[in-house]
Amino acid sequence: MLVLVPEISLTPQLTHRFQARFGDGVAVLHSGLSPAERHRQWRRIRAGEATVTVGARSGLFAPFTRLGLIVVDEEHDDSYKQDDGVRYHARDLAVVRARMADCPVVLGTATPSGESWQNAAEGRYTLIRLRERATPRPVPAIELVDLRGRPPTSPLSQELTSALETTLSAGGKAIVLYNRRGYAPVVECPGCGHSFLCPSCGVGLVLHRQQGGRQQGGRLQCHHCGYHQPHEPACPACGTDVEVLGHGTARVEESLLEAFPEARILRMDADTTQARGSHARILDRFRDGEAQILVGTQMVAKGHDFPDVQLAAVVGVDHLLTMPDFRNAERVHALVTQLAGRAGRGSIAGRVLVQTLQPEHHVFQQLVQPSLPQAQPDAPGGAFELEPVLDGFLASEMLQRRLLGHPPFAALVLLRVEGADAPAALAATRELAQALRGDAPRGPVRVQGPVSAPMARLMGRWRYQLVIRASDRGLLRRWLSQREALLRRAPGKGLRLTVDVDPRNLM
Ligand SMILES: [Zn+2]
Ligand SMILES: [Zn+2]
Repeated sequence: MLVLVPEISLTPQLTHRFQARFGDGVAVLHSGLSPAERHRQWRRIRAGEATVTVGARSGLFAPFTRLGLIVVDEEHDDSYKQDDGVRYHARDLAVVRARMADCPVVLGTATPSGESWQNAAEGRYTLIRLRERATPRPVPAIELVDLRGRPPTSPLSQELTSALETTLSAGGKAIVLYNRRGYAPVVECPGCGHSFLCPSCGVGLVLHRQQGGRQQGGRLQCHHCGYHQPHEPACPACGTDVEVLGHGTARVEESLLEAFPEARILRMDADTTQARGSHARILDRFRDGEAQILVGTQMVAKGHDFPDVQLAAVVGVDHLLTMPDFRNAERVHALVTQLAGRAGRGSIAGRVLVQTLQPEHHVFQQLVQPSLPQAQPDAPGGAFELEPVLDGFLASEMLQRRLLGHPPFAALVLLRVEGADAPAALAATRELAQALRGDAPRGPVRVQGPVSAPMARLMGRWRYQLVIRASDRGLLRRWLSQREALLRRAPGKGLRLTVDVDPRNLM
C-alpha cells in the first residue's frame, strides 16, 4: 500500500500512526532523507519487506512490485505538483499508476479540488462520503468578523481578542492563522514615496526582525530570491522616517504578546522551521501545554489533532483573494475549512473566527451560510445528491468556472519564456505564439498572449507567458503533439522556455 501525504514534516502524527499499526513494515520516503537512507528504504520496498510506504510527492515512484492500494491524503494540496524540472502532479499520476497496477486509488480530503470534484460529478470517480467526524463533536460553525470601517492598526479585532481571552481563561488553546510570514510586508517613505524593492525581482521587500526583538533594525528580504539588505529607519532618498505597514506572522505574534503578556506563544512558519525536525518540535511543545497559542502560516491548518484547541482564528486571508489566479477562492475555502477542523476536537465545543474586509465574497458566504446554487439544467452534481454544508461552495464555484471556461472545464498549458533581456524574451514569446497559431488563429485550441507574467521579473529574468486553452484534453494533446518541434526548439540565446501542462501556479 502506498500512502501519499502533502508534506511529511508537517504531519508527523500520521506517520507515527502507520508505524504504530504496521510496525517494521512501514517505509517512509521524503526529501529529507540522505541518499543512503533513501536507498535502504527503496531496497526494503523492492524486496517486499516494507508493505506500507508513506511518502511525500516523490513517494509515487516507490518501487513496489505488487501494489494493492494507493491513498492520496489531502488530494487538493498544491504541494503534490512538482513545479520545476520534471513537472508532474503526484495525485494525477497516482491515478495513472493505480490503473497500471490494476488497484484502487483513494483520494482523501475534506475540501476536494475542483478537478476531483468534477470527476466525481461526471461519474469518472466514485464519491464516498464520511458522514461522521472522527471526533465526538461536529466541526464548529464559522463566524465572520467584518473589518470594514475599522482602523487597520492592530491585526486583532475586539471580537478576536475577547474570544482569545475566553479561551485562555478557560484553560484552552488557540490556533491563529495568518498566511504571510515576516514582520511587515510593506516599508515605505511617507516623505517622498520611496519603496523598497528587490533589485532582481522588482517586488516589495518584506521586513523581518529578530524574534522577540522590538528594536528598530532587522532586515528587508525578498521572498522570491533570498536577496536581503539591512533595514534602516530613515529613508535613503530624503531622510524621513520610513513607515512599516501591514502585518506578517511575526507582527501578529507581537500583537498577541502585547494583548496577552501572560500567554506563551509559539510561531510556526518558514522562518521558524528551517531546522530539520523543527515542525515536530513546535507541535510537540504545543501539545504538551508549553504554549497556549500557536500562530503561523497555512502550516498550522494541516491535519493536526489537538483535543484542547477551542479557538481557531484567521487574522486575514483577503490578500490571497487578490492574486490573479482562478483557484484563489478554492484555496481560501480549503484553508479556512482545514483550519476550522482544528477546533473543538475534544470534549469542549470550539469556535472559529475569520476576520475579513470582504464578508460578502461568495467564499465567506458559503462558509457561514452554505447554500446550493439554483438548479441549472447542466449543473454539475448529476451523479450524486448535493449536501449544502460540504458542497455549496464547490457547486457554485464550478458553475462560475464553467461559465468562464476555466479548468476543470478547460485544459490549459502554460508556456513561459524567461530571460535577462526583456525585449528579446518578449519577441521570442510573440514569435512562438505566431508559430503556434499558424494559419488558423481561431481554432478550438486558443493561444492567449503573450502577456507579462504576474511576477514580471524573477531573479533578474523577465518572464512572458502564453496560455494554450482547449475545451477538450484529447484535442489539446493532439494539437500539441503536432507542434512538438516548435516547443522543443530553443527559444533563443539566453532565453529559457518552460512548458507546464495543467499549471497550478499561474504567477
Ligand atoms: Zn523618502
Ligand atoms: Zn528577489
